[in-house]
This record gives sequence, structure tokens and C-alpha cells, in this order.
Amino acid sequence: MFFLPTRIPIPPAFHSTETDAPIETCLVCDRGLLDTNTEYLVEKAVRQHTEYDVREVIFEYALCLRCHADLQDEISDASKRALETYFLERANLYQRAALLMSEDVPGPSPATGANGGTGTSGPDPERWMDRCIVTDTPIEALEEYQLIGHCVGREMLMTHLPLVIGHEAMNEIMQRLSKETRDRLGGFQEEHFGPPEMPHELPVPIFA
Ligand SMILES: [Zn+2]
Repeated sequence: MFFLPTRIPIPPAFHSTETDAPIETCLVCDRGLLDTNTEYLVEKAVRQHTEYDVREVIFEYALCLRCHADLQDEISDASKRALETYFLERANLYQRAALLMSEDVPGPSPATGANGGTGTSGPDPERWMDRCIVTDTPIEALEEYQLIGHCVGREMLMTHLPLVIGHEAMNEIMQRLSKETRDRLGGFQEEHFGPPEMPHELPVPIFA
């Protein structure tokens, strides 16, 4: 299955908290990302206290696909299989790609036909990031979530990403990973951001 993904300007939710602009370099190899054709992932973990309207970024980074591949190599085969099964059973990643190919607009509730079902307006990143891909919990109701997007230069590619995944689903995923993989991801977290407070607060560039 091959198609050229739609590109959009990187949404503000994926910007650096510090600069309010796209993240400039790869976390691991430090290569510049913005004025190149290097593809990379952006991940951000957010904790929010909706009653106080406070949002706290736990970590955020960009990782070029070369460094991502190196990290992928260290994820055990058992963990990769477990993840694949989890997403097949629980999330609609493949449906997203199919919808994009058909140029239809994926929505939270296709049955309602809220947009008339014509699908002429193209992918809407807001609607891709307004709820957990697994539990369908709206983002406003998630105490913690992670955002993952696939970018090139100053643009984001609409594939099965971007996505939002809430802490409940992240916990489930972590439980399915092998100890070896969790330790490796924990090591990556510790090396770059310090020890995680919660086991699900691990960088998980495993969705791409
Ligand atoms: Zn890199």
C-alpha cells in the first residue's frame, strides 16, 4: 500500500514548549530538521489538570527516522508482535490510512454523518487529535496523554499519525511489552529526560 500523504503545517500542539515553534533538532543525533528532507517523529507527553486549566509537558522531543530505526532495533520481536496485535484489536490505525486514501474525512462518529459524509474537505488534524485512539476518550478528559506525529521539514505528514493516546491505553501497552523492551525504553527516557515518575511516561516511538 503506497500513497503520498497529505502535508500540513506542523500544528501548534507539536511545537516546542520553549520556543512555540517546531522543534529544531533530533534528540539523539542533534541533526537539524527544519530545512531538510529528513523525516522525523515528534512526541510529547502532557499532564493536565482541567479543573485548574493547567497543562504540564512531561517531555517532548523530535527523533529523526534514522535514530528511530536504531531504537526500533532494540525493541524485542515479542514486544513488536504484542503491539501489532494490540493495535489491530483496539485501534483504528489502518482504517485511518484507508480513509485518507479515499480522501474521506475520518470523524469521531461516522454514523452521525455530521459533515454530510462528502469528505471533500480533506484531513482535519484537529479531528485526528481530539481523542485517544484506543479508548475514544476526548482529550479534555484525559489526565495524561501522549501526542505522536510524523514530520518532514516544517510540515506534518498525515498517515495513521498524528495520534493521541491516553494514559490508560499507555498503561495497557506497557504491560504488554517485554521486560527487556521496557528496560530499554526506560533507559532511553532516563538518559534524555531523567527517571519517569510513572511507568507509562516512557517515550514510545513504536507507533510509526
Ligand atoms: Zn537523529
